[in-house]
Amino acid sequence: KGPISDKYKYILQQNRISFEENKHTEENILDADEIIKSPGIPPKADLIVKLMSQRKSIISEIEFAARYTDAKLIAISGSNGKTTTTLLIYHLLKTAGLKVGLAGNIGESFAKQVIENNFDYFVLELSSFQLDNMYHFHANIAVLLNITPDHLDRYNYDFQQYVDSKFRLLQNMTNADKFIYFLENEAIAKQLKKVKYEPENLPVSLETEVKVGAYFQNNSLKFNSKGQSFEIDFTKVPLKGAHNAINIMCSVLAVTEVGISYTQIMSGLVTFQNAPNRLELVATINGVEYINDSKATNVDSVFYALGSFEKPIVIIMGGVDKGNDYSQIEKLVLQKVKALICLGKDNSKLKEYFGGKVDLIMETQDIKEAILFAKGIASLGDVVLLSPACASFDLFKNYEDRGAQFKEAVLNL
Ligand code: ADP
Repeated sequence: KGPISDKYKYILQQNRISFEENKHTEENILDADEIIKSPGIPPKADLIVKLMSQRKSIISEIEFAARYTDAKLIAISGSNGKTTTTLLIYHLLKTAGLKVGLAGNIGESFAKQVIENNFDYFVLELSSFQLDNMYHFHANIAVLLNITPDHLDRYNYDFQQYVDSKFRLLQNMTNADKFIYFLENEAIAKQLKKVKYEPENLPVSLETEVKVGAYFQNNSLKFNSKGQSFEIDFTKVPLKGAHNAINIMCSVLAVTEVGISYTQIMSGLVTFQNAPNRLELVATINGVEYINDSKATNVDSVFYALGSFEKPIVIIMGGVDKGNDYSQIEKLVLQKVKALICLGKDNSKLKEYFGGKVDLIMETQDIKEAILFAKGIASLGDVVLLSPACASFDLFKNYEDRGAQFKEAVLNL
């Protein structure tokens, strides 16, 4: 129903692919042999319901493109950390000199790259919405970072349905394939006990010494895989926080499986730059650090954000709640947060939960005002953290827009 941007129209025209925009002719869609559905379209949309009742094949672009490539596929999923981990794996393979593409929930179309390039590897970021329409896709290496409540509005508020969706990542994998995952994630551990999956397990742990896989100990990341053992000094890596220790361990295990050497890994790690809006330091003003974590759209990511700072925190939270349970962050909030600034159209849930628990709670619908509040409250050595736990579309176009407006307001100080 929406318009198509000039950039994409041009590509369609160049390739003589017919299209419609600003409307759709239902008969044409119902007449199609197969439908490649954008992951943003919910399965409950009228047209999708009609197509399903006609038993049409509805697939994701990942399923489609994977039919036409012999490249090895490294697939990453999880509720949080997908983009960071996908970019890191891609960066490590690329700096090691491999012919590798980046696709999925990030970057350019997978199908377009299959046509235009001759990559030996693809690193694919996969969301649960994409996995829902994947059936024969076969990952050679799969990384599952965590499963914590998110997007429950699309899964009938049933967490198990969301877990099942994430585990579609493993369907079609064989015992020659590798499954890398975070050992301490409850939902993953439970599912692995319940169902027998084929690929070899390579767990990653923050707490336990694992024989095969990787673990964190004394500020060091320790690896045992493919018959080799090595360590990486976590203090020398440009990503901070326990969540990034997990992301790095998963990434390094994945590229070790591909055959990248320790020296290649080390030289890639030090040059890695993460995407913006993920615990991004915007500025330090009067001894106060302003951090943009606009991509933190669920409670688990805020949990790791709070854990990444030892300093007192003025936190800006709020937006569109996707069924949040704030109990996971309650302890950390009580320990570290000196003020909560609610930035959403409807802040009632946040105010109700943290009322009487946090010393100061303020509210606004204007991000500039939120920054002014924060500036007034924060003192030397504090952190002002935008880590909303919510989606952004009540007040912003998307999380990038929210991050950009935060940055602009901070830089205006
Ligand atoms: P995704 O693509 O899954 O949304 P991102 O890498 O974009 O993941 O990070 C999203 C948010 O989650 C950021 O706020 C980031 O700091 C946080 N995060 C990153 N990795 C993890 C992890 N392993 N566990 C929990 N939170 C994480």
